[in-house]
Amino acid sequence: MGCGYDNVYQARLAAEELRSEINRHDYLYYVLNQPEISDAEYDELMRKLRAIEEHYPELVTPESPTQRVPGQPVETFGVVEHRVPLLSLANAFNFEELRAWYRRACVLGEVEGFDMVVEHKIDGLSVALVYEDGRLVQGATRGDGLRGENVTENLKTIRSIPLFLRGNDVPPRFEVRGEVYMPKDAFEKLNEELAARGQKLFMNPRNAAAGSVRQKDPRVTASRKLDIFVYQLGWCDGPHPRKHWDILQWLQEMGFRINPNNVLCHTLEEVQQQWERWVEGRYQLPYEIDGLVVKANDLDIWDRLGAVGREPRWAIAYKFPPVEATTRLLDIRHNVGRTGTINPYAVLEPVKVGGVIVKQATLHNEDIIKSRDIRIGDWVVVHRAGEVIPQVVGPVVGRRTGEERPYEPPTSCPACGGEVVRPPGEAMRYCINPSCPAQAFRWLTHFVQRAAMDIDGLGEKWIEALMREGLVEDPGDLYYLREKRDRLLSLERMGPTLADKILRNIEESKKRPLDRLIFALGIRHVGSEVAELLAYEFGSIDRLSQASLEEISRIPGIGPKIAESVYQWFRNERNRKVLEKLRRAGVNMGDAASKEAKDGPLKSKVIVFTGSLKSMTRSQAQELVRRLGGMAKDTVTRNTDYLVVGEDPGSKLAQAQRYGIPTLSEEEFLDLLRRHGVEV
Ligand code: AMP
Ligand code: ZN
Repeated sequence: MGCGYDNVYQARLAAEELRSEINRHDYLYYVLNQPEISDAEYDELMRKLRAIEEHYPELVTPESPTQRVPGQPVETFGVVEHRVPLLSLANAFNFEELRAWYRRACVLGEVEGFDMVVEHKIDGLSVALVYEDGRLVQGATRGDGLRGENVTENLKTIRSIPLFLRGNDVPPRFEVRGEVYMPKDAFEKLNEELAARGQKLFMNPRNAAAGSVRQKDPRVTASRKLDIFVYQLGWCDGPHPRKHWDILQWLQEMGFRINPNNVLCHTLEEVQQQWERWVEGRYQLPYEIDGLVVKANDLDIWDRLGAVGREPRWAIAYKFPPVEATTRLLDIRHNVGRTGTINPYAVLEPVKVGGVIVKQATLHNEDIIKSRDIRIGDWVVVHRAGEVIPQVVGPVVGRRTGEERPYEPPTSCPACGGEVVRPPGEAMRYCINPSCPAQAFRWLTHFVQRAAMDIDGLGEKWIEALMREGLVEDPGDLYYLREKRDRLLSLERMGPTLADKILRNIEESKKRPLDRLIFALGIRHVGSEVAELLAYEFGSIDRLSQASLEEISRIPGIGPKIAESVYQWFRNERNRKVLEKLRRAGVNMGDAASKEAKDGPLKSKVIVFTGSLKSMTRSQAQELVRRLGGMAKDTVTRNTDYLVVGEDPGSKLAQAQRYGIPTLSEEEFLDLLRRHGVEV
């Protein structure tokens, strides 16, 4: 296939134009988070460039974006001598230590005080990137600080590392330093994949990033989702700003990815405010940090202070309480999930992690326990990723005494003693006793939750009490509690006001839209998103329950595993009985009319809302979207068609901008509705 150019001169010009075009879009996407074109348009530019380079191989340059494709494996990495050593950092573990550092720096620097740049201390591995005439010529690890490994080929596969730089005043030769890291979600996914293949897991995102960069085979590196934040100028031939803050700005303009959370502080109190903000805020970040790095802003102060040993005096790491700790694994126990899953969890000797006392941690499933070789009695590393339950990362093998016992998965249900099976291809075991009380309990708590039928006031304690008294066995029974009001009142600590409130909320919940009901049914693998799809496609429980396996699997976005699970759910005797109870009680089960709406003017359009609307509530707006045949969803994905932006929009706005999804103001949204005959 030709590339559309008759001679090499034209082709060269076109290739150069395409490269700078692609480079600009990489910058917009990876550095500024503000893409201007869709993924498809981007792919088209790449395709054109590749076509030219295939036709005229002599035009390929090492920094062409096509050269991010991984090369051949290497035996060993070359050694790189760092022109200026990569230092470590001294630590401050509390405010007093931070203040001591600051005062000492003032004395040695002969200043009254100084401005500081406060940055996240990213938990990854540091790299040094050398650019010559604006082109990446070398990427190296820190190594021992004086000598590192040449990992240029691997680093080239990271899209946020520019291969050539933007602008006209790029210094002839300089080095930048940055932290390569693996985002938390990429790390979780990688470990899941490794566990599925029975391979050894990474302990934390830092190890995963380091392991990925130091791969002998760049193809493996390319398959890992790595990213970089550049945090410093290493050395530079040629003029550059003399304030660290300005340097970061300058580097960003050249095309480097700079952390948007960096701040310039004038006082220690401001630094402390940042520390307090991030010590809890860190859990919401997509990457792990173990503290802040505080750096003097003025490079003259850097020069005056110098370093002691391997630690510069002009910077310090202001650490957070660690999110990892070691403790004893006392036992492995199980609870039973809503769909009968037997979930192993760790009982730990209480230990402080990230500022809270942890006594339990998840162990996910038996494959993970096996592949991490976790044994009862082990000393284990516990990791707290945020608000979620902490997890056991792995054993400290060196501390074994020989007394440790390997894990034996249960052969009977710990709640009901019923039979336990492990379906082929699944990592979990299930209790298959249909009347297992633990399953019913989980199902009930799932059914009443906010995202499902939203029955306020029915907490776990009440559900437990209702089950104990034999008032409910499954969600269907909730709708007949009204007839048993006397027995409800006889529950300990239940009064008439509360009882009536609960009964009213149960009545209210009969009107929930179909997708909420489908989600509330607690079908294995059916989350809110899938429930919405099913509601949208089938319009009613009747149609859904009669759908064939083929009909269900034909829906885009629904894989065979989900389809099978949905299909089987409606074939189950107990489930059918519950549905019957719900129907008789008058719970909304959808109707054929909503199926008609599918051909409405907003057909197949996915609309998401953020912020608050002035003219109506969020759920009213979503209902209108559905009435016109559209899908109202709660999260922004690449498939979202519009984001409607109300007052005080949340993070969805940035997300939408990142994907280049059009936004509508409330007025524009109302116009859209009016054009389709809705009176608003
Ligand atoms: P340490 O080796 O733990 O004493 O800390 C020094 C290391 O922190 C550096 O080598 C970098 O890899 C890492 N680091 C992470 N984020 C930053 C940052 N914003 N500025 C400087 N170093 C950082
Ligand atoms: Zn059971």
